[in-house]
This record gives sequence, C-alpha cells and structure tokens, in this order.
Amino acid sequence: MAKICLCLTGKTLERDLQILKKYRRYIDMVELRVDCLTPDERFFIRKFPEMAGLPSILTIRRDIDGGMFSEGEWARISLLSRGLAFAEADRRHNFAYIDLEEDLDIPGIEEAARTFGTRIIRSYHNINGSDVDLTGKIQRMRRVGDEIVKLAVTPHSLEEVHAVMRAAQETTDIEKTLICMGDFGLCSRILADKFGSQITYTSVKGEYGMPKAAPGQIDPVTLTDFYRFRTINDQTRVFGITGYPLKATFSPAFFNAVFNLEKTNAVYMAFPSVSAVSFIRFARDLELSGASVTIPHKEAIVSFLAEKSPAVRSVGACNTIVRNEDGSWKGFNTDMQGFSDSLLHFIGKKNFSGKKISIIGAGGVARAIAAEIFHLKGKALVLNRTPLRARDLAESFGFRWGGLDTAGIALIDKYNDIIIQTTSVGMEPDISADPLDLYKFSGKEVVMDVIYKPAETALLRRASRAGCRILNGYDMFVRQAQAQYKFFMGKEFPADLMSKIEL
Ligand code: NAP
Repeated sequence: MAKICLCLTGKTLERDLQILKKYRRYIDMVELRVDCLTPDERFFIRKFPEMAGLPSILTIRRDIDGGMFSEGEWARISLLSRGLAFAEADRRHNFAYIDLEEDLDIPGIEEAARTFGTRIIRSYHNINGSDVDLTGKIQRMRRVGDEIVKLAVTPHSLEEVHAVMRAAQETTDIEKTLICMGDFGLCSRILADKFGSQITYTSVKGEYGMPKAAPGQIDPVTLTDFYRFRTINDQTRVFGITGYPLKATFSPAFFNAVFNLEKTNAVYMAFPSVSAVSFIRFARDLELSGASVTIPHKEAIVSFLAEKSPAVRSVGACNTIVRNEDGSWKGFNTDMQGFSDSLLHFIGKKNFSGKKISIIGAGGVARAIAAEIFHLKGKALVLNRTPLRARDLAESFGFRWGGLDTAGIALIDKYNDIIIQTTSVGMEPDISADPLDLYKFSGKEVVMDVIYKPAETALLRRASRAGCRILNGYDMFVRQAQAQYKFFMGKEFPADLMSKIEL
C-alpha cells in the first residue's frame, strides 16, 4: 500500500515540526521542502530527520518545477550536500530519501546518497500540462535500477489522467509514484495504488502560513478520515461523480459518510470530465462500480448505456450509472423521484393536479422534473435561455414554452402556482446571478430552486422577501442520493443513517 507523505512547507523547522506533531498519526513519512525555509533555517536541515522521527525526504524544489528555490543550481547542490553530510550509523538520523530531478547530473551527490542508504527519488514535474510518451519517460528516467521514479504532471482533462493510469499499468516493474496535479488529478492521490504509486503526497494549507506544496494536494485528515485511504485495497468498490466543473456537489460527502458509517469497503470521489465519452473510457479501465452523473453530461451519457431504466427511456436523461459484470453500463434517473417526493412533501399534496407550474431551464434535470409533473397530472410552462430546447422539452408533454426574455417571463403569470428553477445559474461560485431577474414575485408562488449550494440562491432570497414559500434543492438531493444508493448497493438505504450524516 502507498505511504502517506506530508509535505512540510513552513518557513522554519520549528513550524514544520509543529505541523508534523499535529498530523503525525495520519502519515507515514514527511518531505522537508527546504526551498520553503528561510536562508538561516537551511543551515540546520541535517538535523531534521532525527527531529522528525519519521522517514524524511530531502527536497529542494526549483521554481521552474513549482517550488520556491530560485538561487541557482550551485547553491542548491551545496544545500543538497549539506543535507547528506555527516551521515550517522543510525540510519533513522539520516534522510531516508533525496529528491533529485531527472535533469540534475551530480554523480557525487548520488554516490553519497547510495553510500549512506538514502534512496534516490528521481523526479520530473510538468506544472503546465502532461507529456505524450509517459510510459517511455518513466522507463527512461531512472539512471540506476534502485531509484524510485516520481512523475508529476498537470492534466487538463480526464483523458490525460487516464493516460497516466495506463502508463502505470505498462510499467508495473518500476518502483514509482505517479501524480496528477490540479483539479483533474484527485483520483490519482486517493487511488494511489491503482496509479502504481509508492507514495501519496499531502499537505496542509494556511496553517501557520504554510503554502500548499502542489496544486490539488489534499490534507492527510481528508485523505485518511474522509476517503478512508488506509482501508482502500483490491476489493474496494470505487464510485464517483462526473460532470464539469463539479465545484458544488455534496455527493462525495454523502456517500463517503454512508460508507464510513456502514463500514462498507467502498470509496466515492469526484471525476471532473469535460466530456461524457472520456469519462466512460476512464471508468471502464478503472473498473468503476458506479457513478452519479451531473451537469452537463446527463443527456450525453445515455448513448453509452447498454440498459436504460424506464425513467431514462422516458426523459432521455440519466444521473446514475452502474457497471454490469461484462463492463457495460445500465442507467437510471433518480432526479425524478427525488424531485417529486421533495416538492409534494413540501406542499403537502399527493400529486400536482390543478397546479400550473413554471419550469425555468430545459437541461437534464428539467427533463426529469417535466416528466414527473406530467405523470403527476400538473400543467407546465418551460422557459429556457435557448428557446428551442424549451420547445423540444415542452412539446413532449404538451406543455407551453418560451425563452427567458420579456415575452417568455410574461407567460409565468398564468403558470405561477409553483416556479421551479432548474438552471445552473446562481450556483457556487457565481452566487449573485438570478436567472429570473425579469420576473416580479407576487408572494403567492411556491418557489423551488434545485440548487443546494448556496443554500439560498439570489432567486430564492428575492422570492422569500416577496413573501413566497421557498424550497432549495437539498431535500431533493438527499432523496435522489438515497435512491442512487439503492442502485449502487443493491439494497434499500438504511433510514436510520441519515440523522448521523452531516453535509
Ligand atoms: P444541464 O443539463 O447542463 O442544463 C443546464 C441548464 O441551465 C440549461 O437549461 C441551460 O440553458 C441553463 N443555463 C446554463 N447557463 C445559463 C445561463 N448563463 N443563463 C441561463 N440559463 C443557463 O444541467 P442539469 O444537469 O439539468 O443541472 C442543472 C442544475 O440543477 C445544476 O445546478 C445542478 O447542480 C442542479 N441539480 C440539482 C439536483 C438536486 O438533487 N438538488 C439534481 C440535479 C441537478 P441552455 O439550454 O440555454 O444551455
């Protein structure tokens, strides 16, 4: 199993040791980032392994590789030598590893390291993107077979993360650590073993002014307590959520909390992906057990399904996929039931009979909502930024439609028992946006916004001030997530768990 390393980026050794003390029980080793220390502190690095009492990596990261060292190569080499000097017979007092970049060619340092039992991590960092021939690169990086290869790249898509995972599968004979930095690479840190990595790097940001060591690193508590890194093994079922940009989702918090409470050997994480096809290809190779699908892939994912539930067939949108034994996918839509259960509970009715409802938006979730309103006997108006999408959706159910312009907004007066906002407008981070700013609430409307982050969108706040009863998307989220659980796990969601989950 990969070891958890905490990168220490303090300005002084004392600060680094304070952080180490706080997180010691979560980690196996530390990386001393000498480049982050003040020049005075760098004199004392040789004593660090003994003070740390854990296997330590000596690293002096250059600015061109994402570090803070800019004083030139000779100054760096002399510091690296200082870190290795006066080696002791008790190896615990020496650095266990030294990080040397693939283009650093100082045989004296390598020899000294080998003599004193300090293992060389031969590293390569691409802070701007990823490389084409990763397998070849990994095979070529080591100078001598006892080195550990560390390759850290910055993928700009899930395809590039996938390429790193494939390179890991093609180089199983090489000891290494493969890291995908940035937002796309979270899975390479949590599923370090699947990426063939010996070490997963963590850091803490902000404490004692510590800068994050590298983009996308998570802290050791999140890794071990939230993602339960120590329990991940060959048998662990991997689930996740895909969409883009995936900045505002409660799903990882919900499912990891459930798995943790139940002690289920499963983990759930975000797989941001710009396209549905690249997610499906990656998910197949990763042998993902199932996934939630969100904006903007709910409709595009349908074409990759071998089996579709009646709900998916009727609305053409899918928010849940589960892998069949042969690697194909079956798809479900839990937004429909989540929505109607939540709104009907809120208004205290069994169906929407007699209700005239405005649906704002015509995307995946709007489709699910329109279908439910139709099946539950309501009448609706669909308004969308792209009016033709509103028309396509509305005509399937005999509803009215329009654009999000003055003429469309004027139609709301005839469909204002309930207004349901289903676009992504107003969601974090752009929380001041209001997709219905042209509409004046009378105060009699029930207003639902399917967004749940923030808890009160600008639209809901305006509606509430006008006297309307308002409902956000949280309850819908929880209900649809519980339905997803049933498809992922093949059993009902244990009702007593919900009160123990904090989102
Ligand atoms: P989607 O399929 O991508 O549809 C997005 C919708 O938003 C489309 O109608 C789109 O209009 C509209 N839109 C996007 N940017 C806009 C803008 N700047 N101005 C006006 N309209 C804009 O997404 P989805 O899957 O339906 O998800 C939509 C929202 O529902 C997201 O915020 C998601 O988090 C939330 N959601 C909540 C739950 C829950 O359980 N509470 C469940 C599912 C989804 P065009 O057609 O003109 O592009």
